[in-house]
Amino acid sequence: MDARIARHPPVIGNRIVTDAWTEPFWEAAARRELVLPRCADCGTYRMPPTPFCPACRSQAIDWTRHDGCGMLYSYTIVDRVLIEGMEQSLPYVPAVVEFPDAQGIRLISNIVDCPIGALRVDAPVALTWIEPTPGRVLPAFTLRPEEREDDRS
Ligand code: ZN
Repeated sequence: MDARIARHPPVIGNRIVTDAWTEPFWEAAARRELVLPRCADCGTYRMPPTPFCPACRSQAIDWTRHDGCGMLYSYTIVDRVLIEGMEQSLPYVPAVVEFPDAQGIRLISNIVDCPIGALRVDAPVALTWIEPTPGRVLPAFTLRPEEREDDRS
């Protein structure tokens, strides 16, 4: 089993630009709360939070709080320096997480603080938070405890 631990992603100088459709997500993230956009008229989840519901064209959105219990839909392991200065972040794991109880939502995020060798598609993951720079809080995910001890080598 690959015992390397998934590190936190490198701090990159880009900043998060929000608008009326994304601001509620980031306001909640600053409080370390995960909220997901759901059509207030028909209940369809939509991510990214587009101005119009793809199912019914409504603009009304409910931002529903979620516990962050999800499944690892896809991931990759970055273990080479792509940007100068990111050596301390290797290896890190960009990932796509989906939520069985919020169909239609796939969140691009990172897997952190767990053995890389235990990762697999469909692994259950739990929400955690990272703060790469002060005041910039991002959702991230880690394997649930029962998954960490599963030696798949
Ligand atoms: Zn709708």
